[in-house]
Amino acid sequence: MKKVVKFGGSSLANAKQFKKAADIVRAEKSRKYVVPSAPGKRNDKDEKVTDLLYQCYDLAAEGSAYNKVFAKIKERFSEIVEGLELNMNLAYEFDRIEENFRKKAGRDYAASRGEYLNGLIMAEYLGYKFIDAAEVISFDENGVFDSEKTNTELRERLEHEDRAVIPGFYGAMPDGRVKTFSRGGSDITGSIVARAVHADLYENWTDVSGVLVADPHIVPDPQVIDAITYSELRELSYMGASVLHEESIFPVRKEGIPIHIRNTNRPKDRGTLIVESTCRKPRYVITGIAGKRGFCSVTVEKAMMNAEVGFCRKVLSVFEKYGISIEHMPSGIDTMTIFVHQSDFEEYEQSVIAGIHRAVDPDFVEMEADLALIAVVGRGMKAARGTAGRIFSALAHARINVKMIDQGSSERNIIIGVKDADFEAAIKAIYDIFVTVEL
Ligand code: ASP
Repeated sequence: MKKVVKFGGSSLANAKQFKKAADIVRAEKSRKYVVPSAPGKRNDKDEKVTDLLYQCYDLAAEGSAYNKVFAKIKERFSEIVEGLELNMNLAYEFDRIEENFRKKAGRDYAASRGEYLNGLIMAEYLGYKFIDAAEVISFDENGVFDSEKTNTELRERLEHEDRAVIPGFYGAMPDGRVKTFSRGGSDITGSIVARAVHADLYENWTDVSGVLVADPHIVPDPQVIDAITYSELRELSYMGASVLHEESIFPVRKEGIPIHIRNTNRPKDRGTLIVESTCRKPRYVITGIAGKRGFCSVTVEKAMMNAEVGFCRKVLSVFEKYGISIEHMPSGIDTMTIFVHQSDFEEYEQSVIAGIHRAVDPDFVEMEADLALIAVVGRGMKAARGTAGRIFSALAHARINVKMIDQGSSERNIIIGVKDADFEAAIKAIYDIFVTVEL
């Protein structure tokens, strides 16, 4: 059994958290490869080391005094080193970092130092080999992650290492310059390492006990999802549920490796298993609910539009012309409706309407703003009759008007459009009808 374990920033925010993480690694021999994030927040008001590094670099780059912020960063790491009673001196590393800041090594280089230093500390504390991610994670000359090159080289390198720490979040371009993934990208590194070593499991340790059925800011104390498929998770994340970095499922998915989300502060909790496919029956008919606000809809109506070849294409090309991405497109007999992000759309609204008139000569075009979309996701929906009925009667009872319904042909999700003002009440009503009633 071989596991890759990734720890998020809050799991490594100070010496106390570091100890918990190391205990977890030591508890199972199979936890051979460790991917750390940079120290995160120790409390709500705290700052992430990554943010401090960006701040510090920006000050240094514009020639302003950066010493105060630099001292804060040093302080964070020395608290960890001292708390772990390590015989380790990071002075040389900090001198080098400062020198590289002066040489303008780049914001990505700066941000990556949080993971780099945490990696050094973790390797020392565990007695594992440290492997600099810049040597094994490759980006091409345009800064795009090179998955196949990385996979081959990382696999070769790790074949000879029984146990290693590989810092998350960054790699290097062909000229050696450090390049990071987008924020939260250590999740991606963990997944890349799991793929390269053919891990049996990718454990992602964080500060929540798994993926929740609904947003805890809307539904108090929601249930944790036991098992979820990659596709279900993808749909929930697209709609705003954030546990893992969106791109982190792709490397492990290629190899069918499951991801297990676990809580560093409550290691006994079962967590959530993310899998390609499973026979495990979901506990409820739905797996999860997520939603996003800030949409508007553009409805185009024209009698007999179904007989007009190319009608939809012509309408969509108007949105394309203005670089507006389309989120959903339910259609009726003589109507098609296009959902777009209000913030992307506002600036071009009138040009788009004029463009549609020119393109298809519609009977009329109508717009509605301040809409929210809610996705009810679940592999269990396919086999269960009456799911849509339950959703809509729950919404009717809560006196919520449904603006749009879109059931994907996968029968794995139903997307519902409601007014922004009804967003939270709608999510609560759906949660109650499927989950609360079963408790
Ligand atoms: N430290 C980086 C961030 O704050 C990457 C990560 O934690 O995954 O975004």
